[in-house]
Amino acid sequence: MTSLAHFEKLAGAIKLPHQAIIEGRLVASSTGATFDNISPRNGQVINQIALCGEADVDTAVASARRAFEDQRWRKLHYRDKKRIMFRLADLMERDLEAIALLETLDSGKPIRDTTAFDVPSAIRSLRYYAEALDKVHGEVGPETSDRFSYAVHEPLGVIAAIMPWNFPLHLTMWKVAPALAMGNSIVLKPAELTSMSALKLGELALEAGVPPGVLNVITGKGSVAGKAMALHMDVDMLTFTGSGPVGRMLMKYSADSNLKRVSLELGGKSPHIVFKDCPDLDAAAAHAAFGIFYNQGEVCTAGSRLLVEAEVHDKFLEKVVAAGKGFVAGDPLEPKTNFGAMVSEVQMKSVLGYIDTAKQDGAALALGGNRVRAETGGYFVEPTVFDGVMPDATIAKEEIFGPVLAVTTFRGADQALKIANDTIFGLASGAWTSDMTLAHRCARELKAGLVWINGWDACDITMPFGGFKQSGVGREGGVEGLKTCLETKTIMLDQMPAELELSV
Ligand code: NAD
Repeated sequence: MTSLAHFEKLAGAIKLPHQAIIEGRLVASSTGATFDNISPRNGQVINQIALCGEADVDTAVASARRAFEDQRWRKLHYRDKKRIMFRLADLMERDLEAIALLETLDSGKPIRDTTAFDVPSAIRSLRYYAEALDKVHGEVGPETSDRFSYAVHEPLGVIAAIMPWNFPLHLTMWKVAPALAMGNSIVLKPAELTSMSALKLGELALEAGVPPGVLNVITGKGSVAGKAMALHMDVDMLTFTGSGPVGRMLMKYSADSNLKRVSLELGGKSPHIVFKDCPDLDAAAAHAAFGIFYNQGEVCTAGSRLLVEAEVHDKFLEKVVAAGKGFVAGDPLEPKTNFGAMVSEVQMKSVLGYIDTAKQDGAALALGGNRVRAETGGYFVEPTVFDGVMPDATIAKEEIFGPVLAVTTFRGADQALKIANDTIFGLASGAWTSDMTLAHRCARELKAGLVWINGWDACDITMPFGGFKQSGVGREGGVEGLKTCLETKTIMLDQMPAELELSV
């Protein structure tokens, strides 16, 4: 039986990863510089992490390039690649509790979520792509008498992955597993706020038998190490999850360097629509609260705009507020805690700033609105609901990336869909209705990469994930996720003319 005391003891005993991983070795940065790793749980510095710079990125990219060119990973039989990836999954399972602890210490997420979701989900994604790696085939062209055409897939080469801090390991595996499965080499940079689970992953990959140089992990600042990766002339692809402003910079860096492929998973301001004929208001309220308060609202698919039809507004708001009260800020290391800390002081202040703006704009505060547990030194903001939010208000337009729900009332489907689509984002969306025709209309007309009908946040590695509009470029997940890591080569064999054949 686990307890706060158990996890506190483990946190004191466990070795906290802090060195980068290049060419299969755990190394300090080339200058020896480090940066403070602060736990949002209590604002304390818990260790020092290697502050990698351009020189370290160069070394890591060179290591990844060597591994790719000598084919130490790519040439392995697919059965061997699969065996090694499954072994890595088994090692992650062996160390699940320790990895979950690192993730919680770094990010402030509740330990019950990191043990029940983040790490198991990363393991599932790894096994999914290990299982799929021998199921990606090329194609054969139409039959002709004079030519045989076919297309094959080849790994891209060196893939640089730059990660956010909200689901550090879970999202890392969406990139690392398909890249590995398809035979690429990787330089991975976790967000500077959450480096430890990626470092642990790199160590376990070596233990599992992934050859040195195939998975390198660089830690440090985005504006230095991340930028150097994005501008690097020997990186073939950049895969990024994070904010829109950084995503834009990465496209420029690609254009300014070698036109490396760029795949972007960016932000959202997702509309969650509740129609008056919602089949189950209690279930919808539970999903609406989960959709914005899970992971402290630090979720790219957070249902941050709740659109409620006027006829059910009062009743529904009451239920959402009641459901929101079920998320209670607590010590992330306490296994009962279901609502943890914001990832950093900066993020906490940003969220509190949005709350102030909403108040000034005249929205009605229906729940929360404050920093809590300040005495712990941690960065906690309570679940917050604003009602009467105008569709063009700041908190209805901008991604807050925190536990702040904006409730807007609408009349009729036309207005709901208009408000829902009036955004620069297009990641997720959802609608609750008993009317199949209306459900299909929403599925067709919502401009988003994900549409959930009578549910919320049902993500599954087997299906494509990604955004319309400014929410991203490309898709992860499913077989599409594998194809992102591949080049396609078309080969045409012309039949030799008869006279040439004779002269041979
Ligand atoms: P961020 O963009 O600030 O940072 C993401 C990564 O980019 C970090 O590793 C950072 O070091 C790096 N970076 C920063 N500046 C850089 C630069 N100039 N060059 C290269 N790299 C640089 O994002 P964040 O604050 O870590 O994450 C929150 C954002 O991520 C939100 O907008 C959220 O919606 C989005 N997100 C999207 C998804 C998705 O799948 N669509 C998932 C999670 C998070």
